[in-house]
Amino acid sequence: MSQQNPATLKVGAIGGGQLARMMTVPAINLAIDFKVLAEAEGSSAALAATQVGDYNQLDVVREFAGTVDVITFDHEHVPMAVLEPLEAAGVNVQPPSNALAFAQNKLHMRQKLGALGLPMPDWAQIEDAHTLDAFINAHGGVAILKTPIGGYDGKGVRVVKSSEDAADWLNNLAAYGGSLLAEEKVDFVRELAQLSARRPSGEFAAWPLVQTIQENGVCSVVLAPAPNASESVLEQTAQIAKSVAEGLGVTGVLAVELFEARDGRILINELAMRPHNSGHFTIEGSVTSQFEQHLRAVLDLPLGSTEMRATHAVMVNLLGVDDKNNFVQAYPAALVAHPTVKIHTYGKGARAGRKMGHITVVGDSAEAILAEAKGAAAVLLRG
Ligand code: ADP
Repeated sequence: MSQQNPATLKVGAIGGGQLARMMTVPAINLAIDFKVLAEAEGSSAALAATQVGDYNQLDVVREFAGTVDVITFDHEHVPMAVLEPLEAAGVNVQPPSNALAFAQNKLHMRQKLGALGLPMPDWAQIEDAHTLDAFINAHGGVAILKTPIGGYDGKGVRVVKSSEDAADWLNNLAAYGGSLLAEEKVDFVRELAQLSARRPSGEFAAWPLVQTIQENGVCSVVLAPAPNASESVLEQTAQIAKSVAEGLGVTGVLAVELFEARDGRILINELAMRPHNSGHFTIEGSVTSQFEQHLRAVLDLPLGSTEMRATHAVMVNLLGVDDKNNFVQAYPAALVAHPTVKIHTYGKGARAGRKMGHITVVGDSAEAILAEAKGAAAVLLRG
């Protein structure tokens, strides 16, 4: 006779991507019964107890929610029309829908951050070509235009010098919720990210500030901690994360993507209310990984230490080169040449530009670990 699993903590994640996949490891360690509602068979998180279903359907999500203590997310696309009735019926959703709403819609996020007095690029809500041209003219002849809903990894973001550059979006506004978001094009010296976690009962913990480096709008490298960050920058970014988490009622992991502008301003770009690419380094680099912390936070368990376990950590994303990439095949070559690296492969089909895995290296020399991580990445991507 098989023995009944004595675990009583049950977490359900909606979305079967690599973030849900990476939550399974700490879930196993803490004997958390972790379930995933995935979009399709063979998802990245298929190693967990996975059910396939459409997260847009209330009945599907309601049934899934009935099997767990708390619902959380691998992505932020679950509609309010699904989450709100579940919450009204007593389902424990973390982060709650009224916080997640700000991560789903960049215009709502800008409005809310403005009301809280937090620093952002200049922005405007755009509903016609005239308003966009006026904004562009007032900001040196260039703006960043974003679709408020559904963008990720730089999709839904473009540089515009005239409303004509965005005619396709402006002529199809209904598909983007009726309006677009224009922002000043920030002249930044670098991009930063401040990762933190918050429990429903209020406890808050932040990891060290990191620098993120993007290629074609996709994160490619993370340096932890952010090199040469001034005391003032560290104070501002820590305060921003706490104000966002508390002001928006975020629970679980929160990533605040930031710009360090050439004129010294620290400005909020984006928010993610789930584990985030900027925090993958925490698996090996921190006492508590973002994936463990997320599970603890959504269960309202005490948070773990966010101290670094080494002076430096570096994360390099494995972005697909073509549809033939096969990291596993390249393991022998990569592992023999780079014994200090930690490889994470997401079990996803290969495609150019796709986030298919990442590498983390920790150590005392920031330069040496970056070289090591990049070297291993090159071997894996060639293989
Ligand atoms: P996504 O939601 O697709 O990740 P982001 O809003 O984070 O989109 O934008 C993607 C990238 O575009 C950013 O990482 C940054 O490099 C650039 N970007 C976005 N907004 C601005 C801005 N206001 N000024 C300058 N660059 C920007």
